[in-house]
Amino acid sequence: MTVQTHFREAKHITIYHLIILKKKKYIIRICRRCLPTRDRLLDRGVNCTSSCALCEGNYKDAIHVLFDCPKAGNMWRVSHLQNDVTAAMRNNNTVAEIVFHLIQNLPQLKLENFVTIVWSIWKSRNIQIWQNVSETYQAIF
Ligand SMILES: [Zn+2]
Repeated sequence: MTVQTHFREAKHITIYHLIILKKKKYIIRICRRCLPTRDRLLDRGVNCTSSCALCEGNYKDAIHVLFDCPKAGNMWRVSHLQNDVTAAMRNNNTVAEIVFHLIQNLPQLKLENFVTIVWSIWKSRNIQIWQNVSETYQAIF
């Protein structure tokens, strides 16, 4: 193996690990209720609408944005995680409880998909808010 190959692989691993680390930090932010969802912004006196940026329904909390929103539902359905997410939502009341339930019960591959999808849903929501671009669930996925 050449030095260049080692460098390329090491670089790839580093980028991969940075992506995983970024997603883990995002999951921690969800569980600590640190995501700036519209319910949290309104609680802090920020002047914003209470409707969902993705579906424009009158829901604004993290559970709606990440799990209940029809657009998020499409993502969960396509990813074959819908049954897992539905079961987690049925048995838990807060977004942190839902996320912890899934982290504890999903096998490794499904867990990686879960983390990636929940991160992608939030990213798509931010693109809608800040760039006024509505992504299809196929584009998000
Ligand atoms: Zn929605």
